[in-house]
Amino acid sequence: MLRPDLLQPLEPSQRKAVIQAARTLQVAGFECFLVGGCVRDLIRGQSTRDLDLTTNALPEQSRQLFKKTIPTGIEHGTITVRLQGHSLELTTYRTEGTYSDGRRPDEVRFGQSLSEDLCRRDFTVNALAYDPVSSELVDEHGGLQDLEQRLIRTIGKPEDRFFEDGLRPIRACRFLSTLDFQLEKNTEIALADPEIHKRASLVAIERFTEELRKGLKSANPLPMLSTIQSTGLLQIFLNRANLQTPPVELSQTGLCSQAIPANHPEMQEQPILARENRLAHYQKQTHSISDSLDWLIDIRIYCWLRAIFPGLPYQELIGLLRRWKFPNHTMLCMEASALLMALPVPPKTAFADSQSKERATLADSSTVQSQELISYRVLIRQTLFQLFRILDHRLEDFLFSWTAYLNSFAPEATSKHECLQELQTGYRDPFRIKDLKVNGKDLMELGFQGKQIGDVLQRCLEQVWKDPTLNSRDSLLEIAGRPQ
Ligand code: ATP
Ligand code: MG
Repeated sequence: MLRPDLLQPLEPSQRKAVIQAARTLQVAGFECFLVGGCVRDLIRGQSTRDLDLTTNALPEQSRQLFKKTIPTGIEHGTITVRLQGHSLELTTYRTEGTYSDGRRPDEVRFGQSLSEDLCRRDFTVNALAYDPVSSELVDEHGGLQDLEQRLIRTIGKPEDRFFEDGLRPIRACRFLSTLDFQLEKNTEIALADPEIHKRASLVAIERFTEELRKGLKSANPLPMLSTIQSTGLLQIFLNRANLQTPPVELSQTGLCSQAIPANHPEMQEQPILARENRLAHYQKQTHSISDSLDWLIDIRIYCWLRAIFPGLPYQELIGLLRRWKFPNHTMLCMEASALLMALPVPPKTAFADSQSKERATLADSSTVQSQELISYRVLIRQTLFQLFRILDHRLEDFLFSWTAYLNSFAPEATSKHECLQELQTGYRDPFRIKDLKVNGKDLMELGFQGKQIGDVLQRCLEQVWKDPTLNSRDSLLEIAGRPQ
C-alpha cells in the first residue's frame, strides 16, 4: 500500500537523509526499507530520532556506498551512516537464529529477504517496513490493524516468541506505557507462564533495566509497573536482591500513600507516580535542565519502590538499584529523596507574609512560635547540608526537578510542596562550611589547630543555620572565640 506522506513528521533534513540512504542502496542494486519502531511511530504521526533501516546489502558492501560510516555493531550486521547531520542505523536483513540461552540468538545469520527479517521481530506493530523511495508500506503481520486497535501482539505464538528471548515479555509490558496500548489476549496469558518466567530470569539485568527506564520516561509508567508486578515478572528480577514481591498493588489513580502506613515518617503524603497528560507540563517546567528525563526516572523509581516496599530501609532499595545496575545518580537521588520525604511539615505561623515572619523570628526568639520557626529553619539548613553532601553540584537541579514533578503530577501533595519551598528559600542562604565568611586559614591565624578547626567551623555553621545574619567575619570570629 502506498503512503506518500508517511515521512511528514520528520524534520526536512532527516527526510532527506532517509531518502538519500535508500536511494543510494537501491541505485546500487540493493533493497532498503525503514523498519521497526520508527515506522510504527511515523504511522502514529510521531517524529522519531531513532531511524532504523534494513537492507540486503552486507555491511561491507554498504560501507563502500557511503562517505561517512561507523561500524557500530558490525558483528550484528549494523553500521551507522552519517547523512545530513543525522545518524541512520543500517542493518543487514537477519533471520531467526536458535536461542538456546533465552538471551541472544546463538549466531547472527543474515537473511535473504525483507520477509525473513520481519518474522524475527517481536511484535506486529514493530514489524512494519517502509520504502522511502517508492512510498510503499509493507505490513505482513497485521501490524496496521493492531496499531489501530492499540494492541501488543507477538508475531507467531507468544509462548514460542517469549521463550526464545526472555526480554520480550518485559518489552511487552513497557510498550503498555510507552505506547499506551493493551495486551492482546494470548500475549497477555503467555506473560504469566512460569516457563516463560524461567527464560526471563536468564536475561542480562542491563537489558531489563534499559526497558524499565524507557517505560519510566513515558507519560504514564503505571501500566508497565503494575503489569510486571501482577504477571510475576517483577519477582524474577527481585530475586536477584532476595526481595519478595509485595502484596501491595499499585493503583492507577490513587496516591501511593494508600500503601504506606500513615505513621511511617517518610510517608505522610507520598506523591503520585503519574497523572495522564502531565508529562509535557513537567518537560516545559524543566526545559532548562538538560537531563530532566533522567531526573524524572530517578524520582519515579523512588516513588515506585517506596510505594511497593513501604517501610523497607532506603539502603536496601539502593542495594536493589545497584543489583539492577542503575546509574549512580539514581541511587544518590534515592538517598536524597528519602531525606526530603522525611522532612516534617513547616510550622504554621501567625505571620502573614514571609518578610515579617523573618523579622519577627530574629527580633524575638522567646516565644514558643519563634522557637519553633528557628528549629525548623535549622532543620532545613541541616537537610540542605546533608543533601549537598550527597548530590554536590546537582543539588539545585534536584530541588528544581522535584518541584516541577510535584507541580505536574502531585499538586495536591501540599505538605511536600511546602517543604520544597522552604528548601528552595534556604538554598539562597549560607548552609555549607564554604559559605561561611571565615575559613580554616582565618582560624589558624587565631591559633586553632588540626581537628579544632573543623569543629569550630561546624559550630559557626550551626549558628548561621539559626540566624543567617550572623554570617559576617566579625560575628563568626566572636563565635569562634580563642583556642583553650
Ligand atoms: P522505542 O521507540 O521505544 O525505541 P523500538 O520498537 O524502536 O521502541 P528498539 O529497542 O529500539 O525498540 O528496537 C527496534 C526494533 O528492533 C523493534 O521495533 C523490533 O522490531 C526489533 N526488536 C528489538 N528488540 C527485539 C527483541 N528482543 N526481539 C525481537 N525484535 C526486537
Ligand atoms: Mg527504537
